[in-house]
Amino acid sequence: MNPTPVNLLDFDVDGLAAWFAAQGEKPFRARQVMRWLHREGCTDFSRMTDVAKSLRARLAEQACVRPPAPISDRVSADGTRKWLLDVGAGNAVETVFIPEATRGTLCVSSQAGCALDCAFCSTGKQGFNRNLSAAEIIGQLWLANRLLGGAADGERVVSNVVMMGMGEPLTNLDNVIRALRLMLDDHAYGLSRRRVTVSTSGIVPAMDRLREECPVALAVSLHAPNDGLRDRLVPINAKYPLAQLLAACRRYLDRAPRDFVTFEYVMLDGVNDHDGHARELITIAAEVPCKFNLIPFNPFPGSPFRRSPAARIRHFAGLLAEAGIVATTRKTRGDDVDAACGQLAGRVQDRSRRIIRMAEMERKS
Ligand code: SAH
Ligand code: SF4
Repeated sequence: MNPTPVNLLDFDVDGLAAWFAAQGEKPFRARQVMRWLHREGCTDFSRMTDVAKSLRARLAEQACVRPPAPISDRVSADGTRKWLLDVGAGNAVETVFIPEATRGTLCVSSQAGCALDCAFCSTGKQGFNRNLSAAEIIGQLWLANRLLGGAADGERVVSNVVMMGMGEPLTNLDNVIRALRLMLDDHAYGLSRRRVTVSTSGIVPAMDRLREECPVALAVSLHAPNDGLRDRLVPINAKYPLAQLLAACRRYLDRAPRDFVTFEYVMLDGVNDHDGHARELITIAAEVPCKFNLIPFNPFPGSPFRRSPAARIRHFAGLLAEAGIVATTRKTRGDDVDAACGQLAGRVQDRSRRIIRMAEMERKS
């Protein structure tokens, strides 16, 4: 019986070269095969015409190219496109493509669910299911390029990647780093480090590892300007409080491809949007070169928070701007397909939970 085929999407170039070497193949073949897999989107080994016939035959026997399977594909009125992907055992994750005039950004998930339970996040409220494999992470970019219609002639539609989908990328760092290396590799996607952003709620030791092993652009989910409030909103703050987080941001910047960190700040009505909070943020900005991205809260069923009114968000951004801090307000996109930040997979998960509960009730009756 054939052993389970190896999914080639799980390898970065070095990993594939090592796997080839272990089979007695020339490691340089890895680069050739990578180009077929990632640049051409080829899944049929017999089409890899510049690869030796014997290697093609071996790959057909021992390997496969398996991205996660799409369950649904929805396009919002504003052009945002959202795929729900099956990652097995009743778990689904989401990938969102946001087209803009000068770039196409893909928002990629790193975990099914998330263990960190931030108070305002629907993914966090689902709890943690599991880490995605490197193949499931890079598979989102692989699929998006195919489904968006690019890649046939090596053209790429996705110009930027943000690891801002479901999950905390820095608690799945080995797989995330493998996927990031593929995003950056010229034999795969060839994206520049500045166009690949990892967003974290602040896992300090993992920020240091990312800095050493694969420094890409960094976004940090700040959401509160002091430990008291941040402990409530982003519970991981109890483990890595603000002073440690800001020190890690400064260390990261020595290696980062950009000379600032982006602080994400979800605007919660009456919770973290007072003038005093803006003043505290100005003190933080004096310690870490940064830009702010204000995210209007995206509500979800059962959440106790409300979005700050638009005038309050404008006023808050104005206070930061007066202090010379660049603060942009994120446009909410894809609302009509539940593709906005923090809403990902919430409803699907609720639905699948309901289906499981109903099945259990039927079994018992
Ligand atoms: N786990 C990572 C990345 C995924 S979340 C992190 O927390 O940074 C991407 C961004 O969306 C984070 O800044 C997150 O705090 C924010 N977010 C989560 N829920 C949200 C909601 N309901 N409304 C607006 N932004 C939200
Ligand atoms: Fe996890 Fe990020 Fe959501 Fe917090 S905001 S629960 S870290 S996905």
